[in-house]
Amino acid sequence: MTTFSEHLRRAFGEAKGLARDFRRLILPPLCPVCQRKLALHEEHLCSDCFEQLPFTHFRGKSNNPTERIFLGLTPLEKGHSYIYYYPGSASSQLIKAFKYHRRAETAAFLGRLMGEDLEGSHFFDGIDAIVPVPLARKRLHERGYNQSERLARGLAQATGIEVWDDVLIRHRETPSQTHFTYLQRRENVKDAFRCPCPDRVSGKHLLLIDDVVTTGATLLACCESMKEIPGIRFSVITLALTGSADNTFPSSLHSFGI
Ligand SMILES: [Zn+2]
Repeated sequence: MTTFSEHLRRAFGEAKGLARDFRRLILPPLCPVCQRKLALHEEHLCSDCFEQLPFTHFRGKSNNPTERIFLGLTPLEKGHSYIYYYPGSASSQLIKAFKYHRRAETAAFLGRLMGEDLEGSHFFDGIDAIVPVPLARKRLHERGYNQSERLARGLAQATGIEVWDDVLIRHRETPSQTHFTYLQRRENVKDAFRCPCPDRVSGKHLLLIDDVVTTGATLLACCESMKEIPGIRFSVITLALTGSADNTFPSSLHSFGI
């Protein structure tokens, strides 16, 4: 039997949905890529721009380009990226939207899509927790949110895997890596991370998540900060992998602006 409070909750939910639809009719959100007004059925970006995204199609394939970044540098169980990042492309505009234009919900939405895309691939088998790469405190303050944490929340929604955002901290501020070479990037983030609770992650398989992987320096520094913890294992997932038009690793990282 439906109780009065359930009726009330349902009615409140419906009213909220109607208010949201009405608000969208009056002031429709814009697609962050083409700036077209989004239709009621479109979430965060328009269907045309979504279809044009450069998907990697790795879907759990081993030895894919994301995994190869870490080859010989740190033991990794699995690696995955959902799309390629090309400068000036739809994917770069999308990433800039949630990184610099306060579209935090877009990051959560993409995290969810990324998780749904991997359904049935066994990529998440055996993973105990999703761990977002922590943001420098100053940048967190400026942005108001950590985009990797928002991606993680969306991924958790799709997979049911918990997010542990307190097992890795960035205890040293690091300057932006945008114009750094590979070696400068490695040096920049070296020793920047620390795990405050080694016992909690001991014996666990953690899935580290970041928005974009270019040289892998940041994710590598995260792994290295915890590598002495007994039994710990890592996998990595990123929304995007920096790529060139022929999907090979870029020879010049300077022009990518990330
Ligand atoms: Zn669009």
